[in-house]
Amino acid sequence: MSETSADVAVIGGGISGIACAGALAAHGLRVEVIDRGHAIGGRLATQTMRDTGMPCDGRVVDVGASYVTADDPAFVAVVRDWVDRGVAREWTDTFHVADSAGLIGPKLGPIRYAAPAGMRTLVVDLASRLPEDLVRVTHPADVERIEVTDSGVSLHGEGVDDAAYRAVALCGPDPQMSSIAPPGAVHGALQSSPTWEPVMALTAAYDERSWPDLDGVFVNDDAILTFVADDGRRRGDDAPVLVAHSTPVLAAAHLRDPAAAAPAMLAALRHIVAGADPAWFTVKRWTYARPTRSRDEDHVLDGPIGAAGDSWARGPRTQAAWVSGDSLGRALATRLAS
Ligand SMILES: Cc1cc2nc3c(=O)[nH]c(=O)nc-3n(C[C@H](O)[C@H](O)[C@H](O)COP(=O)(O)OP(=O)(O)OC[C@H]3O[C@@H](n4cnc5c(N)ncnc54)[C@H](O)[C@@H]3O)c2cc1C
Repeated sequence: MSETSADVAVIGGGISGIACAGALAAHGLRVEVIDRGHAIGGRLATQTMRDTGMPCDGRVVDVGASYVTADDPAFVAVVRDWVDRGVAREWTDTFHVADSAGLIGPKLGPIRYAAPAGMRTLVVDLASRLPEDLVRVTHPADVERIEVTDSGVSLHGEGVDDAAYRAVALCGPDPQMSSIAPPGAVHGALQSSPTWEPVMALTAAYDERSWPDLDGVFVNDDAILTFVADDGRRRGDDAPVLVAHSTPVLAAAHLRDPAAAAPAMLAALRHIVAGADPAWFTVKRWTYARPTRSRDEDHVLDGPIGAAGDSWARGPRTQAAWVSGDSLGRALATRLAS
């Protein structure tokens, strides 16, 4: 995109923000996507395993969303396109179920899709296919305040250009977006948000596989864990790596010191799934991992300010975030055309 300012600023380079930018660009609008992260992707997050001293050093691991499911026709088309081009692949329709005592057995469900190069590449792929003459992605840039004036909407913050936009789309977790939304109906809607739960994601690398053949495990009625993914089978390289997600209660107790959640998570992982301790592990904190419920509306839009994300569109899932961002982009394009 040229140096002239964009029509719309999209705050958030997760899947809802990139979907929103795509819908706006499809209507010929110029868009600036702004994200405070060093990489785009948001909670479709991939980390590189470093300083492990193990053969898996340098390998990427999915530490945010575990997989994608799709039944919305428009999102199904997005996923099919990813699969056709090798960006995503069908992972599994069978996870195991467990409780605090251990594994119970397999359970059939919908097809879960994963990404051979890591879940973040799904967002990177969508962003790479946006028209370069219309969409610019800026990061890291942290929006701290949004001001609505007679000449448009201006953004203030670290690394953020002093430009005025015709509209701003807030695409991400309600608590993060409500902290920067200007006073008005959107701010009100975001503040009356569902509760957001934290999660700790523990990545554990083993010398060899010490657990039964499985793709993932839903852990029910346990105080420590809710889900465990076999990241080697998810990614398709069979590396002996597990990713375990904590309960919100455990995460909330360790938000200031995520590493302190590790001993309890490792003990539960060993007992329920792995049967052994890993040779290396790390913990990633998600303060706003997911909303406890989601709204039926696809997005909120009031004047030049809108909001989208996975607390809209019958989420909270990746699909809902995409549907929500896409619908906000289309609604904003209609409004700006009138
Ligand atoms: C541990 C975990 C497991 C999950 N498992 C699944 C699963 O199995 N299946 C599934 O479908 N979904 C899952 N999800 C949910 C899925 O990840 C989300 O629904 C989806 O990624 C939300 O996308 P989003 O674009 O709405 O928000 P996000 O991905 O959170 O993107 C918001 C972006 O906004 C940026 N941002 C925030 N504030 C600012 C600011 N002030 N200035 C600039 N940028 C800002 C952030 O850096 C971020 O990149 C999981 C999530 C977590 C955390």
